[in-house]
Amino acid sequence: MDDCRFCKSLEFKKELDARRDKLEKQLFKKKYTVAIVDRILGPYGRRGRITDYGFRGCGYPLKYCPMCGKKITGRL
Ligand SMILES: [Zn+2]
Repeated sequence: MDDCRFCKSLEFKKELDARRDKLEKQLFKKKYTVAIVDRILGPYGRRGRITDYGFRGCGYPLKYCPMCGKKITGRL
C-alpha cells in the first residue's frame, strides 16, 4: 500500500500545502475531493474526457483512496 500512486500524490500535495506561508493559508483554504473522469476513445484516434465533479461542483468527499482502498485520515 505504500507504493500507491494516489496516496503518494495526495501526501505530496499536503506537504506542499503545509509549506505555504501563513497569509496565503488565511486567504486561500484548500480541500481535496475526487471527481469521476469518463475517458472516451473513439474511432480515428479521437479521444476526449468528461469530468463529473458532482456534489454541487465541489467534487465528491475523499474518504478512501480510490486505488488502494486505504482510509484517508487527517485534514483534507
Ligand atoms: Zn492509496
